[in-house]
Amino acid sequence: MTQSWPQRERARELLSKEVGYVRKPHGGRMRVALAFPNTYFVGMSNLGFQTVYTLFNAQADIVCERVFLPPKTELAAQLASGAPLLTIESQTPVRDFDIFAFSVSFEWDYTNVLTLLRMAGIPARAEDRTHHDPLVMIGGAVTFVNPEPLAPFADIVAASEGEALIPSLLGAFRAAQDRDDLLRRLVAERGFYVPAFYEVKYADDGTIDAFLPREGTTAPPVVRKAALKATEAVDPPATTIFTPETEFGSRLLIEVVRGCANLCRFCWAGYNYLPVRAFPKERILERAAQARPHSQRIGLVSIALCDHPDIEEILTTLVGMGYSISPASLRLDDLTPTILRLLRESGERTVTIAPETGSDRLRRVINKTLTNDEILAAADLIFASGIENLKLYFMLGIPTETDEDLVAIRDLTLQLRDAMVKHARSRGHVGRIVGSVNPLVPKPGTAYQWLPMEDDRSIERKISRVRSLMAGIDNVYFTIKSERHSLYQALLSLGDRRVAPAIEAAERNGGNWRAAMAETGVDADFFVFRDRSRDRVLPWDIIDGGMKDAFFRAEADKAMRAEWTLPPKRQKENARLLATLHETP
Ligand code: SF4
Repeated sequence: MTQSWPQRERARELLSKEVGYVRKPHGGRMRVALAFPNTYFVGMSNLGFQTVYTLFNAQADIVCERVFLPPKTELAAQLASGAPLLTIESQTPVRDFDIFAFSVSFEWDYTNVLTLLRMAGIPARAEDRTHHDPLVMIGGAVTFVNPEPLAPFADIVAASEGEALIPSLLGAFRAAQDRDDLLRRLVAERGFYVPAFYEVKYADDGTIDAFLPREGTTAPPVVRKAALKATEAVDPPATTIFTPETEFGSRLLIEVVRGCANLCRFCWAGYNYLPVRAFPKERILERAAQARPHSQRIGLVSIALCDHPDIEEILTTLVGMGYSISPASLRLDDLTPTILRLLRESGERTVTIAPETGSDRLRRVINKTLTNDEILAAADLIFASGIENLKLYFMLGIPTETDEDLVAIRDLTLQLRDAMVKHARSRGHVGRIVGSVNPLVPKPGTAYQWLPMEDDRSIERKISRVRSLMAGIDNVYFTIKSERHSLYQALLSLGDRRVAPAIEAAERNGGNWRAAMAETGVDADFFVFRDRSRDRVLPWDIIDGGMKDAFFRAEADKAMRAEWTLPPKRQKENARLLATLHETP
């Protein structure tokens, strides 16, 4: 087909630069077109996406090929041409596959899911599809925390870590008589959610009253998330396709430890990936050794890297292999001089840390079990190791926040800068402190899931205040995310299936969310700025992530009293800090 020629050319060009992609004959296999709803450049840097691709193709009975959103410069032409969306590996139309699976990592990509469906010639809404269409499966962390805004578009939501899902999907596919039978078989398995199998009842005030399984569907009252139980016998997720055409170039990304036991009250990733599971040291190092010919740089993926019991040994061996190492954000409480020395030796010049706020009081509100003294002591270690730059993450709009807390962000940053300058003197070169400030979006599946987001005028005031506090400080650069951007992200995070028309409208109008709200009448304030503590059912209650409501409620109460819940590991080592729990806030 001539209209498809540019797509084929592009796919062949991309493949020619790749190492590690999989080509399999389609005959007799379950065919999965796996989409990352953003460009190739972004998607190929995503470890979750690469992992699902590898897991699918590890099954002899499955062939999985990739699909991406074309770059912006080509998107309009491709849409106008009406050419069918093709996979990268064999340049087969997506419509010819059995399953069109999406790995979604960011709320911002929800509109791209619809664009890809349109390009593939598949109806956007599940109710409009027939047995001629591939089964549309939507997965990825943001969707299994709260899949509801995407519910009308998914035949099935994968509420699961990929490792726990693929064998049951294949089993059900092999045994099923037809599409309906496949869906019924899948809902009998843990981790699969079929939104169309539920009728959502609403109360008069617009809140959800109940999710009612439809008769004859055998759908369970709640869908239990499926997760990998133990990691001792599992290969760590790692880059399997190397290409220079990505954000991280040919960097080997490898997951070292999953989860974080710190229990920060706002952190959906911390709660969602419990319990903490470390991947085996031997397998991490084996994979790193195999990948060394293709990669000089290794990205250690984890939200709590130093929770790995063998982290020092892992780093030592990686440095010995000649890798330069990029750690993800480091948790300060576990940093040691040895870890810092190894990072510096591997060429790292910047460390990223997340104080979240400038005051100890507010850190007790969010349960970040760190004090300013500890942060400054850690910064001293960091700069003494020869690392020159610091990247900092802060939040605004934390419950009980006052102007004093904003001033405390400036004061802490100044103290950190002083530490940087002190150590820079001997080198004769001063580094940079780069701060990133984001409004807090209360997230589903956290202790803050009932909280309204702080109203936009108040957040705007705080943004201006922090901007003026940070202005003109030498060697310090702050970027502050606008409240508007966060509002629509919050809507997609906290909404339910009634938000879907706004996603459709924003996809049609090129991402103008304000116009999409006006056109569809979706009330963003209802979903974002409302106190949900009296709601009978929250939109994301349909998925049971394993954490108990009573625990979250107790944590929310403790937040208002500025009390910590120390994770077991820190209870002992920080016994000296326990006294602060009894201070009056
Ligand atoms: S320390 Fe970081 S990763 Fe762990 S729970 Fe807190 S914010 Fe989340």
